[in-house]
Amino acid sequence: MNTLMECMCLECGISIFMESSTIKLSGPSDTGYELLRDTYCTECGGPMFLVGKAGDEPNYKLK
Ligand SMILES: [Zn+2]
Repeated sequence: MNTLMECMCLECGISIFMESSTIKLSGPSDTGYELLRDTYCTECGGPMFLVGKAGDEPNYKLK
């Protein structure tokens, strides 16, 4: 089953949506984010991390 997941750039903060089947996680980093492996920001080339299912409340808050 494919679920649309939201991912966000650590550098510039844009978010992109990806199907869960295309997402590879590299595991939690020392920042606590679940970073994506082999996927980088389309804008700045920065690392992306998994936010959660598209449409869900994020499990973090940007202040
Ligand atoms: Zn970026």
